[in-house]
Amino acid sequence: MTDANHEFNQVSEMTSRQRVLAALKREPVDRTPVCNPTSVATVELMDLVDAHFPDANRDPVKMARLAATSYTELGFDSVMPVFSIIQESSALGCKIQWEMKDNWPTVKMSEPIWAEPEDIIIPPDLCTHPDTHCVLEAIRILRRELGDDVCIIGKTMGPWSLGYHCFGVEKFLLMSLDDPDKTRQCLDRMKQVTIDFGRAQIDAGVDALTLPDHATGDLVSGAYYEKYLQEMHTEFVEDIPIPLILHICGRTVDRMDYIAQTGMAAFHYDSKNEPDESMCICNQRISLIGNINNPETLYSKGPESVTAEVRKNLDARVQLVGAECAIPLQTPIENLKAIPQTVRDWHREQDHRN
Ligand SMILES: [Zn+2]
Repeated sequence: MTDANHEFNQVSEMTSRQRVLAALKREPVDRTPVCNPTSVATVELMDLVDAHFPDANRDPVKMARLAATSYTELGFDSVMPVFSIIQESSALGCKIQWEMKDNWPTVKMSEPIWAEPEDIIIPPDLCTHPDTHCVLEAIRILRRELGDDVCIIGKTMGPWSLGYHCFGVEKFLLMSLDDPDKTRQCLDRMKQVTIDFGRAQIDAGVDALTLPDHATGDLVSGAYYEKYLQEMHTEFVEDIPIPLILHICGRTVDRMDYIAQTGMAAFHYDSKNEPDESMCICNQRISLIGNINNPETLYSKGPESVTAEVRKNLDARVQLVGAECAIPLQTPIENLKAIPQTVRDWHREQDHRN
């Protein structure tokens, strides 16, 4: 018996919640958890439970009903009701394009609300505004209705992402090139939004929080991550006392060593990074989640291709398996179901080898 097998087999059966929380701490698990730190909502699932966008982003009952499907219909170990990345930006005063059932809501970046650090004022209703309150209420409903067996994950956006929403992507990136001090002042003022909304979700009952901060591979470098975000992300571990899952899209191996030093529980990583090389860099300092490709594999290929990618992660001993980012809304359900099925098959094969 290999060490890795031993690690799985010595553990008696766990609930989904126990499984995810153990994997976030790199503790032994009965099997690898299937986890969605970002959204797995699809139009098919919306139809199934009659909870459609845009209402499912604004009505807590519909938001909870749609979120529950990842556990009840897909067989994932976690639920995640914050499908979008704009709930707190709406509360900050950004104009939102809410869209229809087949599209994501977006911030109207042509109308930025801030230009200078002094403009950054956090409104007193940050966590009572209808669009943030909706998230908190959905979390309470999910906990009440699904009990303690499933892991409930919330989401609080990091200051770099908030900078894009509130200043405009181009203006924010230009400022980061021209004026590092001013950029740091802005990040420092915006980080309170991340902390306050995160803590409010802890009070509402989440088990872990995804923290997307879009210092994305194709927009900024690893050196930028170290310069502007590593220290702040390290502080979040103290300021938001719950397992944190950092989400950054794109090729990120140039910053994974910095990310692994933050003390965050996990890094939600993109398919542009190989599981083996990523595990090697992280070296048990942080758990990895994700990697299953969205635009090609989950959206347009079949279950066999999904299975191949899941197996690659399991073979690399990636701690939690799931999609790389919020999945396309037209993703077929059978592709999503192939993820937990493959995990079960893989573990059965491992058992038989003993
Ligand atoms: Zn992403």
